[in-house]
Amino acid sequence: MPANAVTTVECRTLHSVKESQPPFYIGVDVGGTSIKIGLVDDFGNPIETGEINDDGNHRSTLIIKTETNPQSACELMSAAIHSLLNRLQIEEKLVGGIGLGLPATMDKVTRQIRRPPNLPTWAEFAMCDALAALVNYPVTFCNDANAAAYGEYWVGSANGQSSLALLTLGTGIGTGIIIEGKSLDGAIGYGGECGHIIIDSADDALLCGCGQRGHLEAYCSAAGMAKRTLSLIMHRHSSIRAKVTPETRLADIPKLVYYEAEGGDELALEIVLETAKYLAIGIVSLLHTLDPACVLLGGAMTFGGKKSPLGQQFLSQIVKEVKLRAFPAIAENVLIDFAILGSNAGYIGAAGLAREAKK
Ligand SMILES: [Zn+2]
Repeated sequence: MPANAVTTVECRTLHSVKESQPPFYIGVDVGGTSIKIGLVDDFGNPIETGEINDDGNHRSTLIIKTETNPQSACELMSAAIHSLLNRLQIEEKLVGGIGLGLPATMDKVTRQIRRPPNLPTWAEFAMCDALAALVNYPVTFCNDANAAAYGEYWVGSANGQSSLALLTLGTGIGTGIIIEGKSLDGAIGYGGECGHIIIDSADDALLCGCGQRGHLEAYCSAAGMAKRTLSLIMHRHSSIRAKVTPETRLADIPKLVYYEAEGGDELALEIVLETAKYLAIGIVSLLHTLDPACVLLGGAMTFGGKKSPLGQQFLSQIVKEVKLRAFPAIAENVLIDFAILGSNAGYIGAAGLAREAKK
């Protein structure tokens, strides 16, 4: 989906070094295909956002290729971090640490990355230690979904709340949970995998990307919604049907649903509201388990977010469906809203978790 059409992204104002409060923390957000590096001050104000490419230019994007091995990635990150600090003339002693957000979990004993689905060749590499050896700062590991959640907790939509769950809706459903400033990582790093909450126990429930059936992600991720759409338009009238051709990719279908729903197509709107209902069913399980102060929704599948009437309708439907199913006291207390940091949440949160680790 085009980011400007269906995501809600509000960048915090970039601060100059002069108007910032040291120490500074560096956040590194490693995605499936690129790495983003940024600097924040002690209050979470972003100082400079940079993306690095494969020649080490921190202003561009590093496209992670299959041949980019983890040691090379560490060297690129190190070069970009040094370049950033030099350019901003920040003394080494004013940097408190680095948060490394990875789309993976880490074995706490061996400190090796475990099973990164999008970066399989990085498995079993002790990336925090390798990066720390190059940069000479402490490096704190965080899972990317937890890092994004911490960003929203620290300086985003959940600022001032005691706890939150962030659901990032996109190709999959990433979830991060923060309670009293701590990321819920679990015994072996799989804490908060809420995209795989079971919402349908039928034998023929939709198949999730993880290989199991009936998971929240199978219904509310981009692929899940696309599959439900293809099934529905076979039997129901909709303007979507004429726009789906043999060339249409599954990943493009949610965008079609979004535009057609905005244009008044009844079935498209029904699909959006049905997505809200499935999400609410998953959220209710979360509420009864954690009783979080706040549940935030981010990612590309938020139908324009707060600025769009459809996004507002999507959110209202989730709240309505939650109220039908949750304990009234919990449903009345919880704040359900959109996340605001967009793609910056990952590096800001990773930096915040590095700051938290230093306390
Ligand atoms: Zn699953």
